[in-house]
Amino acid sequence: MSTLYKQHQLHLYNSLARKKEPFKPLVEGYVGMYVCGPTVYSNVHLGNCRTFMSFDMIYRYLLHLGYKVRYVRNITDAGHLEHDEDEGEDKIAKKARLERIEPMEVVQKYTVDFHQTLEKFNLLSPSIEPTATGHIIEQIEIIEQIIEKGYAYVKNGSVYFDVLQFNKAHDYGKLSGRKLEDMIPNTRGLQGHLEKKNPQDFALWKKAEPQHIMRWTSPWGDGFPGWHIECTAMSTKYLGSHFDIHGGGMDLKFPHHECEIAQAEAHSGSSPVNYWLHANMLTLNGKKMSKSTDNNIYPHEIFSGENRIFSRAFTPSVVRFFMMQAHYTSILDLSQEALEAADKGYQRLMEAIQTLRTLTGNTDQSTFDIGAWINRCYAAMNDDFNTPVLIAQLFEAVKQVNLLKEGQLKLTEADVQLLSQTLNTFTFDVLGLRDESKIDAGHFEKLSGVIELLIDQRNKARERRDFAASDEIRDQLLDLGIQLKDSKDGTTFSLS
Ligand code: AMP
Ligand code: ZN
Repeated sequence: MSTLYKQHQLHLYNSLARKKEPFKPLVEGYVGMYVCGPTVYSNVHLGNCRTFMSFDMIYRYLLHLGYKVRYVRNITDAGHLEHDEDEGEDKIAKKARLERIEPMEVVQKYTVDFHQTLEKFNLLSPSIEPTATGHIIEQIEIIEQIIEKGYAYVKNGSVYFDVLQFNKAHDYGKLSGRKLEDMIPNTRGLQGHLEKKNPQDFALWKKAEPQHIMRWTSPWGDGFPGWHIECTAMSTKYLGSHFDIHGGGMDLKFPHHECEIAQAEAHSGSSPVNYWLHANMLTLNGKKMSKSTDNNIYPHEIFSGENRIFSRAFTPSVVRFFMMQAHYTSILDLSQEALEAADKGYQRLMEAIQTLRTLTGNTDQSTFDIGAWINRCYAAMNDDFNTPVLIAQLFEAVKQVNLLKEGQLKLTEADVQLLSQTLNTFTFDVLGLRDESKIDAGHFEKLSGVIELLIDQRNKARERRDFAASDEIRDQLLDLGIQLKDSKDGTTFSLS
């Protein structure tokens, strides 16, 4: 069992402290991490994927260091209204109305899309993926306790969090650095605004009007939970009222995470999270990629090349490599040039990894200090997961591999093995890249199509109870390095 974390002091940028801090988990060797998941009312765009990829890299590195990580990433399938100010229609209910389908059909459709998209980018599944609608009881219980403690009030079947009351004994705004007077939303005249004691208050529970289809019974009448309370309920349930890491996109700092802190402190009396991590935004044409402004691109459009932005297709690993070349807290702009550069860099890395597999030691005294190079790789990752610096170190290794190939570098056999092992570990296990170097994007799309066809044939064989045929398809694909994975959402595949 790896306990690498004992040799490596990880530092991470804590948004709450506004500085880098040494990471010390609450229980040695264990990490509890909660990341806000998607609102499943439409397909995930590449910006969403960046945030989830950033936390996947963080999860992978924590695992690599030997931590036992409980990684909880929720699915928001109710309660997220169109506007942050507790107003507008529920995003999922609205989509259901527009598409004339059940809200849960919307949820199913986009949850499957989310999983399939993340699988293409080689993201690991979280340990627990709870849904808001699966935790209504827990949310109601916490709201009741917050009311009991005097930090929330009931008005016309809705429950609001009393921000000013909370702020007397706590610090509302400590995460985002906002002052109370700057947090007055422009909602004059709206129903929720009229019910609130103070404009900064936010909804914990909303009364369902007769036309509202997503509704549950509560002590305050039929209604639905506010957006923020679900994360408090689910993180408390699975990680406790005090846990190590909470993550999400930078745009969630306020109001979502500020409200999460207030709810949790009102409920348990103390700060819920030791380290708040925020991933920065992916931009397109210099502007935040976003569903609402239409300034976005979907992953499948990049993989197929069918889009109006780029002149050709790029594979999932090239896109992932592009993301990893930036620090997760920096803004990253998507462009043709950046993807072309990422493609070149990625191919060079894959070629060097393959070349190294064919090389052997040529001396009993190395002229390159592998130990020092390995330390530099760890130093990069220990410095708030600095993947661009890590990648620069991987290219240092690429240079050495090429020198070795040309006979201009002396390495012992043990050092060749160590170099190869470390290069593989950081590239595939930590950065989460796949070796697709032999498949260009167009071919990848075609290959995916063929595999989907075989998955379909296998499902049909299973329906006929012809298990010999279905097993044969699975086994023969496996022989070709294509692994099928069955889950409740269907079958996905991975290439090894
Ligand atoms: P949503 O489904 O809208 O709640 O968003 C899911 C996640 O994607 C959240 O953590 C957001 O912060 C994140 N996100 C949204 N837009 C972007 C973007 N342009 N770049 C990076 N992350 C984003
Ligand atoms: Zn959340």
